[in-house]
Amino acid sequence: MYLFKRVRDLQAFLQPFYDKNRPIGFVPTMGALHDGHLSLVRTSSKVANNVCTIASIFVNPTQFNEASDLEKYPRTPADDLIKLAKAGCQAVLMPSVEEVYPPGLDTEVEIDFSKLGSVMEGAHRPGHFDGVAEVVKRLLEIVQPTHLYMGQKDYQQVLIVRKLVETFRMPISVEMCPIVREKDGLAMSSRNIRLTPDYRIKAPLIYKTLQDAKNWIQAFSIDELSQKALSQLETGGLRPEYFQLANAQTLELITDQSDAKQIVACVAAWAGDVRLIDNMII
Ligand code: AMP
Repeated sequence: MYLFKRVRDLQAFLQPFYDKNRPIGFVPTMGALHDGHLSLVRTSSKVANNVCTIASIFVNPTQFNEASDLEKYPRTPADDLIKLAKAGCQAVLMPSVEEVYPPGLDTEVEIDFSKLGSVMEGAHRPGHFDGVAEVVKRLLEIVQPTHLYMGQKDYQQVLIVRKLVETFRMPISVEMCPIVREKDGLAMSSRNIRLTPDYRIKAPLIYKTLQDAKNWIQAFSIDELSQKALSQLETGGLRPEYFQLANAQTLELITDQSDAKQIVACVAAWAGDVRLIDNMII
């Protein structure tokens, strides 16, 4: 596996693949890799027929709305490289902030994401998706993959990126891969290593509540269901920020089951000082 720190070196490596129009899979990450990330790499390298799989590790400062969150973000680069090589990755880009955002280059992305950007994570993390759109567009321009692999774990992010790719007419297919979970149901996340033992025991309640929501939807209104979910999370010692049901395609929040053919339940909750998100198609 090759490790590149410079954009131009990665592009020189990829040139023969571009010349022959070969499929290239790309997995952007912020590092501190776990099996969720690696499942994306494996899908690209072993399941799909990409001839080359590239991953990036870049903790993007522009998508953090709190400086302390950026500072506390876990970083385990040496371990990450070993895991990526084992998962079948051919090359990794680990760029500096200046490589991604060279001084003088206007990288800002101005797209109206409408509901996709203004609800849930968009409402609770102001500016977050502008930062995501900015970094993903820049990374896609750098890597020029044919296939992009992203996790359902960040459901809203995948829809935002699909819209970005569509808006800029990038010839890239965006693949949404299933959420990988711990045995007790907790969605894998780089942030999980910051959970205290007590909150690590409490955190799987997020998944349980999503599962319960799937059953409750038969018997309760959307409003009752959301209230039940929020109070279950609170009773279990978590601090929910939102529990919302939305149209799985547009992310418009729904008030009645008949409002959407497919419904996604999305949740953000604090486990101590760690903010966790999860979702489920119900
Ligand atoms: P991050 O490093 O958090 O930016 O995540 C990089 C990619 O890995 C994103 O597309 C995430 O959605 C995906 N990802 C993170 N956690 C999981 C998980 N538990 N299952 C599947 N994909 C995941």
